[in-house]
Amino acid sequence: MKTHNIAVVNGDGVGNEIVPAGLRVMEAAAKKHGFELKTTFYPWGAGYYKKHGAFMPEDGLETLKAFDAIYFGAVGDPEVDDTLPAMLYTFKVRTTFKQYVNYRPVKLLPGIPSPLRNKGMEDIDFVVVRENNEGEFVQNGKILNPDSPSGLATDTSVFTRAGIERIAHYSFQLAQKRRKKVTNVTKSNTLINSLAYWDYVIAEVAQQYPDVEYNTMYVDNASASFVLRPEVFDVIVTTNMIGDILSDLGGAIMGSLGLGPSGNINPEKEFPSMFEPIHGSAPDIAGKGIANPIGAIWSGAIMLEHLGEKAAAEDIVAGIAQTTESGLHTIDLGGQAKTDEIADAIVNYISK
Ligand code: ATP
Ligand code: MG
Repeated sequence: MKTHNIAVVNGDGVGNEIVPAGLRVMEAAAKKHGFELKTTFYPWGAGYYKKHGAFMPEDGLETLKAFDAIYFGAVGDPEVDDTLPAMLYTFKVRTTFKQYVNYRPVKLLPGIPSPLRNKGMEDIDFVVVRENNEGEFVQNGKILNPDSPSGLATDTSVFTRAGIERIAHYSFQLAQKRRKKVTNVTKSNTLINSLAYWDYVIAEVAQQYPDVEYNTMYVDNASASFVLRPEVFDVIVTTNMIGDILSDLGGAIMGSLGLGPSGNINPEKEFPSMFEPIHGSAPDIAGKGIANPIGAIWSGAIMLEHLGEKAAAEDIVAGIAQTTESGLHTIDLGGQAKTDEIADAIVNYISK
């Protein structure tokens, strides 16, 4: 039997509830589709930081490297200033393992009371592909004389041809498997060096995919289009910071942050990829068993697909859709179902 070695990091807050729910669903899918998931748990995150002064041990990345994939919950704790260490932690994992693709599907699930569905829009099914390794988030800058009248601060974005080319190829190849349309979202009319170069390289790569329709959109227009005409999108390719913001908006138009999945992917499979829901540790609802596990469960499906278990992944996604359609909803969607009830329903769907 094929075995996939998975490092599991629950993290903090609701991570401890949604990750076990996701694992239960994946195990049901593994049983049905004839493969094994070998899981190893690591108690890292903000809780770990409070005890040890770091989000993971020094050899943490070395430890993770040996796995086929990383299944992750969320990090964050109200008592820990997460701006620096958490950012560094996720950025380090993403760059060390060359997870240069951040893959975030935005799809309206059946039965979900999304703000857009209420306006008659049903047609939401696209993917935000966010460049995950460079751009605006390289943390390359400084603050000079902060308290004097001459105070000045800079952050310099860094884009490389190689970095732009690889994310472009990934996006066009993804579009070939979907509705064959790529929209490049930038702000190159004002960031006239970095993003103009981004556009230039993406357009060059586009020529190698004549079967894919290619267009560009500025992020201001794209944000409005997410809400007013989401049906125009299939695959969106965008930079690290723009993608960070747009993909949260994507989660919102799906009806709840608790629904959104993501993958930090190294397409070459040279290093493990990491799969996590888009939401954070949600300390306000943690410990009550009421968090929506769908973002985590769906992330698990994306992980299985990445590991070559396409049928299992499709089964899980179908189970999610059947559950939302049945009206079994957690509190964020206006329902009363508990985290475990959602997982049970999906497990039942898969096992029947
Ligand atoms: P982070 O800084 O870690 O991203 P955050 O404060 O930005 O955290 P979240 O932790 O994602 O954001 O929480 C934002 C809001 O969404 C909270 O009110 C939280 O309760 C809600 N929320 C997040 N995830 C879920 C979930 N899985 N189920 C239900 N509600 C959720
Ligand atoms: Mg957040």
